[in-house]
Amino acid sequence: MAKEYDVVILGGGTGGYVAAIRASQLGLKTAIVEKNKLGGTCLHAGCIPTKALLRSAEVYVQSKKAIDFGVEVNDVSVNFERVQQRKSIVVDQLYKGVQHLMKKGQIDVYNGFGRILGPSIFSPMPGTISVEMNDGTENEMLVPKNVILATGSRPRHLEGLKVDGEKIFTSDEFLTIEKLPKSVIIIGGGVIGVEWASMLVDFDVEVTILELGDRLLPTEDEAISAEMLKSLKKRGVNIHVNVQLDPSTIDAQDHVTVQLNDEKISAEALLLSIGRVANTENIGIENTEIEIKNGFISVNDNFQTKESHIYAIGDVIGGMQLAHVASHEGIHAVEHIAGGNPAQIHYANIARGVYSNPEVASTGLTEQQAKNNGYKTIAKTFPFKAIGKAIVYGETEGFVKVIADEESNDIVGVHLIGPHATDLISEAALGLFLNASSWEVGQMVHLHPSLSEIIGEAALAIEGKAIHF
Ligand code: FAD
Repeated sequence: MAKEYDVVILGGGTGGYVAAIRASQLGLKTAIVEKNKLGGTCLHAGCIPTKALLRSAEVYVQSKKAIDFGVEVNDVSVNFERVQQRKSIVVDQLYKGVQHLMKKGQIDVYNGFGRILGPSIFSPMPGTISVEMNDGTENEMLVPKNVILATGSRPRHLEGLKVDGEKIFTSDEFLTIEKLPKSVIIIGGGVIGVEWASMLVDFDVEVTILELGDRLLPTEDEAISAEMLKSLKKRGVNIHVNVQLDPSTIDAQDHVTVQLNDEKISAEALLLSIGRVANTENIGIENTEIEIKNGFISVNDNFQTKESHIYAIGDVIGGMQLAHVASHEGIHAVEHIAGGNPAQIHYANIARGVYSNPEVASTGLTEQQAKNNGYKTIAKTFPFKAIGKAIVYGETEGFVKVIADEESNDIVGVHLIGPHATDLISEAALGLFLNASSWEVGQMVHLHPSLSEIIGEAALAIEGKAIHF
């Protein structure tokens, strides 16, 4: 029998489940359809498990340095089975939390694969969702007033290279390895590639990165890319940029070997991290007027597709493929469905992070982007080595770079590389959100000793008034 809802959400990842919670708070009768596990990529194959592994690598590195702090720790080694167990415990705890939130919000969860039907006996409009249930019971028919597509994305593969989960991996398979390989070639020096490279080298794995572009982290400010290159190289990572890879030269018979011009690079495993593809197939798009552009579902500012009662959010619409972006898009879509007038999301001000060692985080424009946008820029950097708490912590690598508009002194971009960058960036993101000037940020009294003093100092540097450097 068909069941009626105000909203049905297809996909229970970060975007989908957060949208469901807000819908239930707004009194909408809500269902969510998830073919796998609630929490999606971020919880099961992305943000959370990778950060749990990175944290273990960090603890290992810190333990080896313990003597510098006067703490004697003998025979430090990695028990990778325990590392993986801890990762699973962290994920399970959060997974239980999401399941609890669905119950609390009285959100109906259908475990199965959902597809959009065209006009049918259930509704004259496209949007009825047919759910092929995982437990083999009869298909459920959900008849919603509104639909939110939040089907996310999956790793991009390289044509001609078979991902076998034994020697050739994407991040998905690599997260479940039982034993660390001795050596890994990583194809792709973007966020995911750099996080894995940093973690693996900290676990004593020999790492080679092959990057197509002319620098690591190509969407970050050039100064940040250069510092990351320096840091990874110092720790022994082999890095090749401007690599035009021919997949047919990759041999995975015994070891994995890759032919690079005259050089042959070999490793026990190869990790592909060359971007993500939106999940738009087999979900019934062809039964609607919904448009797909460059592989992503097209939406307007309120996340409506060409079918105004069908919305799409998160990785499936492209743009910034980040969990916090997906969840905010979901909240916006639901508030619009409920008749509200939600504020537009300003993507330029959203913070983004790389959880490597050292961490990277940024908000706003890079110096180059600011110049391209016509700003007359003033940019200043301030190093962590001049910050008291960084010295106390023994974490003095890196800097902050603040970019302001020379005419108004408004801050247009902040870029951090160094300890706790992914936490420090929120002050800068709030500054951009509130249109703060360097004077305002410099006038704000920062707690001492704290790493956050670096933001205040860099803002003062723009004014020519930095104190400690
Ligand atoms: P997803 O989380 O992909 O969820 C989509 C869900 O839809 C999935 O659960 C899927 O099973 C389900 N689904 C798909 N089709 C159907 C169907 N037809 N029927 C039913 N269910 C369906 N982002 C950050 O912000 N910070 C990070 O640190 C970070 N680290 C990352 C690390 C890695 C290795 C990866 C791969 C990603 C990382 N991301 C990070 C990105 C983040 O995971 C995604 O941006 C986020 O998960 C997108 O959320 P979503 O809801 O759009 O899609």
